[in-house]
Amino acid sequence: MSRHVVVIGNGMVGARFAEEVRRRDPDGARVSLTVLGAESHPAYNRVLLSTVLAGGLRPGMVALPAADGVEVHLGVAVTGIDRAARVVHADDGSTHHYDELVLATGCRAWLPPVDGLGADGVPASGVSVFRDLDDCERILATAVPGARVAVVGGGLLGVEAARGLTGRGVAVTLVHPRTHLMEGLLDPEAGDVLAGALREIGIDVRCGVGAKAWDPATGLDCDDGSRIAADAVVVATGVRANTVLAADAGLAVDRGIRVDDRLATDDGRVHAIGDCAQHPGAAPGLVQSGWEQAAVLADLLTGTDPAARYRGTRPVTRLKAQGIDLAAVGDVDAGDEQLRISDPYRGRYGVLSLRADRVTGAVLIGLPDAAATITGLYDSGAPAPSDRLALLLGRALPGEAAPVTDPGRLPGTAIVCRCNTVTKNALVAAWRAGATDVDALARRTRATTGCGSCRDAVCGIRDWLGRADPTAVDLWQADAV
Ligand SMILES: Cc1cc2nc3c(=O)[nH]c(=O)nc-3n(C[C@H](O)[C@H](O)[C@H](O)COP(=O)(O)OP(=O)(O)OC[C@H]3O[C@@H](n4cnc5c(N)ncnc54)[C@H](O)[C@@H]3O)c2cc1C
Repeated sequence: MSRHVVVIGNGMVGARFAEEVRRRDPDGARVSLTVLGAESHPAYNRVLLSTVLAGGLRPGMVALPAADGVEVHLGVAVTGIDRAARVVHADDGSTHHYDELVLATGCRAWLPPVDGLGADGVPASGVSVFRDLDDCERILATAVPGARVAVVGGGLLGVEAARGLTGRGVAVTLVHPRTHLMEGLLDPEAGDVLAGALREIGIDVRCGVGAKAWDPATGLDCDDGSRIAADAVVVATGVRANTVLAADAGLAVDRGIRVDDRLATDDGRVHAIGDCAQHPGAAPGLVQSGWEQAAVLADLLTGTDPAARYRGTRPVTRLKAQGIDLAAVGDVDAGDEQLRISDPYRGRYGVLSLRADRVTGAVLIGLPDAAATITGLYDSGAPAPSDRLALLLGRALPGEAAPVTDPGRLPGTAIVCRCNTVTKNALVAAWRAGATDVDALARRTRATTGCGSCRDAVCGIRDWLGRADPTAVDLWQADAV
């Protein structure tokens, strides 16, 4: 008899988990699935909301594939978990029995306690957070050319929102209470280079300035005494993991729901994956971690691989802002060997840290070739070339490290699509199996279906394979496909 698994959350990771289970158990012989999702939309790619805001995609174009043979309830929020009875209660009055329970409840946007912005996490009139499709559509309704919008929060999402709105002809002021933008990832110099690049495209960036009060009639008052005349406010001041259900059920919760390498909570029948989960090796807030966790948990719950374990994800963050290339890799550690270049007038900045010849961290702005090569070295753990400066500048390094921009010389084990952890080897194997265009490669490997930033690299590999004799393609240093 099959085990019944209930999934709470039909977001990027809950939906992926259902898909992973059905890939392993297409007929439901081993696992039957019920997914309960609070949002009324079918599962969609949240990562692409920044692209929607920037006008690169329409809201209807971000749907995620739906797995067959899964009972999905949309617009249904779970309100309680009875672990003794192994039942969850939902706000539509329904109850659902489980053998195994998967929490994939994600995060919610945090609304700071600023007068007029809203209460109890609910934004006031003229105010939007930036987390889901409804938020995105609300922001788009105000984003007409000539509108004035204040973006509060200069983290990754605030910067992406500001850039996207500017591209739509909106006059954007970005206020950030810290001394520099994206301070969690960038050092002050990198933050200043980013601010310079944003000012260059017309965004009024104000660091060291916090929001004090919002009044739709007058605008946004700031703590430096200034007032920003704005028609609307977008708040991007961080997220909090949705842990209340777990905490109320007596599960161990810290900043997320604590899980071990099997993605199990302190109740072995209850699991947590994605943004709501806290695993010591996971990079918070990145979909790659959640999708890797979904695959491991599907291996375990279908019995496909009882030895599967999630060991963590090496973080790589990319800004999705047209015209600004920014990548942050690992941790730039003050104790490591460091190299830094700064060219603020041309919007370029790079810092690279290494230990025992291996890349431990980097921040790269306006240096796409270096970003590609350094990320490859970081992923593979291969030794960095001795000419560190050439590496940081993204220059050709004959015989030492293959620039990722040359698909033929890219190692087979290099990760091309980060969101889905797809290597060059996997793409070559898919090509050999008949997937000879980008859509077919995407269907077979899932490359390009996350944030989409690897599309050019996948096209490059497709073109290279098309030029070469595919049966004779040397996988170059690749041991296995
Ligand atoms: C604009 C934007 C851009 C982003 N860009 C990137 C990027 O470039 N790269 C990257 O790696 N990550 C990015 N992220 C983060 C990425 O979207 C998340 O890491 C990912 O969505 C996590 O998936 P999840 O399923 O854990 O959470 P979510 O996708 O948030 O899904 C959680 C779901 O659970 C539902 N839920 C919560 N509580 C309940 C309940 N009690 N009952 C039923 N349902 C419930 C929620 O309504 C939601 O639908 C971005 C996020 C945003 C908002």
